[in-house]
Amino acid sequence: MRPARALIDLAALRHNYHLARARHGARALAVVKANAYGHGAVRCAQALANEADGFAVAFLDEALELREAGITRPILLLEGVFDAAELDAVERHELWIVVHHEAQLRMIEATPLERPLNVWLKVNSGMNRAGFVGDAVAVAWRRLQASGKVADITLMTHFARADEPEVIATPAQVERFNAATAGLSAPRSLSNSGAILGWPQARGDWARPGILLYGADPMPGEGNGLQPVMTLESAVMAVREIDAGEPLGYGARFVAERRTRVGLVAMGYADGYPRVVPDGTPVAIDGRPGCLIGRVSMDMLTIDLTGHPDAGLGSRVELWGRQVPVNHIATAAGTIAYELLCNVKRVRFSYTG
Ligand code: PLP
Repeated sequence: MRPARALIDLAALRHNYHLARARHGARALAVVKANAYGHGAVRCAQALANEADGFAVAFLDEALELREAGITRPILLLEGVFDAAELDAVERHELWIVVHHEAQLRMIEATPLERPLNVWLKVNSGMNRAGFVGDAVAVAWRRLQASGKVADITLMTHFARADEPEVIATPAQVERFNAATAGLSAPRSLSNSGAILGWPQARGDWARPGILLYGADPMPGEGNGLQPVMTLESAVMAVREIDAGEPLGYGARFVAERRTRVGLVAMGYADGYPRVVPDGTPVAIDGRPGCLIGRVSMDMLTIDLTGHPDAGLGSRVELWGRQVPVNHIATAAGTIAYELLCNVKRVRFSYTG
């Protein structure tokens, strides 16, 4: 059987959830959108089913998948609804919705509903992607109240730069959020992972941790006591030696400077490992530090076994996980851990904890 697999440590997920809750000192919606950032939404939500105060997903289908799997806790749709038919499903499945745009307000006003909704009214405090600005927040609030269709309103905003500890953008967003919501009596939710870890002044009644649940610190290098949840690993499926001067792989990017023992590993960019990483990108070979050489192919990649005389066919290769932080690979690939984790596919998933 092809040895490429993603091991998901659900005990680590629970540890990270509780860490987020303790750091923020309030309730927390576990953000499990995008298949729980590639980790398996149903399995992750089930692992948190008795502990999380609720869950957040991007859109209706993601929420229905969790409801069908028996998740009964609150589920918030971060994008809200796209049409009136979705409001019907929201009602039936008792979902919570973000309202971030005039069209959604009108939809609520115009759609007959049997049960009152739980709405998270989104304030644009500076990210300028979604939400109501300034005085429009109180106007939206009053329209929701007047519609008679809303039982509870939570006020929320989202940060653009919470993962940048030196930048004042986050306190500035907090100020704009506070100004826009002054006098409105409702629970508040501001913090994503970066703010939970780095901006105590953004505390509210609800946190919305995403990436930190999966053990990737949004402030690279800090650690913060998080435990990696996914280990992406495979094994050496062939070994060969190449002479000094010989090229390796597509484009002959790597050329051996000395006789080199090359391990061929069953993992490629079609599995979600990024093609763009350079020679020298870290891996762990049977638990010891090693590195990638040559260009990553669709199904395979190559590693340097020259300094690993005991390694050979079947040796375990960790691409990221406890020994190789996913943030290191993301930096090598010029991207963020979020994207790498979301892109893992085609490998076997197994769950522990
Ligand atoms: N809240 C909202 C509105 C989001 O869109 C996201 C993710 O994009 C999160 C919370 C979680 O963010 P993070 O993964 O940075 O914790």
